[in-house]
Amino acid sequence: MHNLERTFAIIKPDAVLADYSDDILNMIEENGFDILAVRPHHWTREQAEQFYAIHKNRPFFGELVDFMISGPLVMLVLEKENAVAAWRDLMGATNPDEAAAGTIRNLYGANIGHNATHGSDSLENAKIEIGQFFPELV
Ligand code: ATP
Ligand code: MG
Repeated sequence: MHNLERTFAIIKPDAVLADYSDDILNMIEENGFDILAVRPHHWTREQAEQFYAIHKNRPFFGELVDFMISGPLVMLVLEKENAVAAWRDLMGATNPDEAAAGTIRNLYGANIGHNATHGSDSLENAKIEIGQFFPELV
């Protein structure tokens, strides 16, 4: 059965700065995702705080916001069967030290705060996140 989904992804500022964007985009295509949108952007503090509002009471929130506005990032909308779970599988665990061999965070992440990519954690949140930046693609 088909379960075509869309998810929201970000190539975070650490990976852009280290010039990993093309390698990550190649991995995305090799793994069968259709890239519906790819948009380089430099977030404002307000955009970062809104995007990660769910984490606003966590001790790492300030660090996370500072990092996400530290340089340009690349926002993506990806489409595939079960895209939300498939993209999180391809990224690997949040902490690169725990990410399975061959996953994006294993290959390109430095530490839990600088972990190369973002992916929506549910279909519901994917719609909210896509809607924040690409309302025409929800
Ligand atoms: P993301 O939402 O970026 O895809 P995730 O869903 O795997 O990552 P979350 O729990 O949503 O993980 O955390 C959001 C981001 O906050 C993480 O990607 C990471 O960069 C940062 N983060 C999470 N935990 C910590 C921590 N203990 N210390 C520093 N940064 C953290
Ligand atoms: Mg998350």
